[in-house]
Amino acid sequence: MLQSSAPYHSLYIHVPFCKNICDYCDLYSIVNNENSSRNAYLKKIAVGLQQNSPRLQQLQSIFIGGGTPSQLTPNEMKVFFKSINDYTSFGTDCEFSVECNPVSISPEKLQILNESGVNRLSFGAQSTTRKTRHTLGRRTSRSQLETALENAQEQGFKNINIDLIYGIPGQTLEDWQEDLKVALSYDLPHYSAYSLILEEDTALSKRYDSVDDELAVDMYNLTEEMLSNQKLIRYEISNYANPGKHCRHNYDIWKGASYLGLGPAAASFDGTTRWTQIRDLEKWLANEAPDVDELPSKERIGEILSFGFRTVNGWRKEELTNLLGHDALRLFKDTFEQLLQDELLQLTDNSYKPTKNGLLFADTIAESFIFC
Ligand code: SF4
Repeated sequence: MLQSSAPYHSLYIHVPFCKNICDYCDLYSIVNNENSSRNAYLKKIAVGLQQNSPRLQQLQSIFIGGGTPSQLTPNEMKVFFKSINDYTSFGTDCEFSVECNPVSISPEKLQILNESGVNRLSFGAQSTTRKTRHTLGRRTSRSQLETALENAQEQGFKNINIDLIYGIPGQTLEDWQEDLKVALSYDLPHYSAYSLILEEDTALSKRYDSVDDELAVDMYNLTEEMLSNQKLIRYEISNYANPGKHCRHNYDIWKGASYLGLGPAAASFDGTTRWTQIRDLEKWLANEAPDVDELPSKERIGEILSFGFRTVNGWRKEELTNLLGHDALRLFKDTFEQLLQDELLQLTDNSYKPTKNGLLFADTIAESFIFC
């Protein structure tokens, strides 16, 4: 595997542990309370950070996701965040995010996060409606979410996101409207609202065959209407923020930034090659080799282009040629023309941007670049 030696722009660490497995979840997550595996996990993360330390000295963002990072005990958190601080360098303007489950984040853990340099929290709320949470197999209550948000704000965290999901079997448009109303009453700077995907081999997909796509589109449109009424700006298909409060980590990755991923199931990208660690804690601990995805250059450029078109701003022509060379426009000339003709892209201010339909049919845009 040929890898660059340039500094990584971002760092992602996957913490696979969860209290229980939600019915819709397809992420790599396990219920594992054995001290030996958890200690081995923490050691291997520290080794990965140490080995890559020379390339982790100019980080622009760090994202700790999962699984459930807040499922780490206070002592485990101290070890985990000490390793990050020992082997990486990041300035005060580095965005340092941690995903939290309201059930497992305590004031003590929030204080550890604060003292470790974390400056952004993302809470998995999914729904504020009991019936919908029950369908998803989420055990968090609305009052637990509200307590977690209050505790986070008391600790001084201002940059907070909550994740919501719509298009859930049995969920009505009125239920979703109520979810959004409650979520917006928290007055947060960032909201993510994802359309449910019934992933194979999840408990939910064994109970339901399909989602109501038409209703999901109505919910998608209602989301934009209600969030933009609150001056939240959509910057990606499923993400809304106050000005300047977008998730820089995700945004930069959609725009082709390099990142190192540590932990089982974590993906990395060095600007040319992608590789993904094995989705199995024990095999990852045993150093099983990652899955390497070395695409020919045209396919890689197509892939990067398609990720960027998830964002509302799309690609400035100049940005494209700076990042990918003049080939990016030349190689995909026909694809751009077809997407403009189909009104999935528009060309304004020297930028290719997805239209409203282009955001809704982002997969069609992606396929046009990846399989052209
Ligand atoms: S808490 Fe999150 S990562 Fe864990 S099972 Fe539920 S959805 Fe998946």
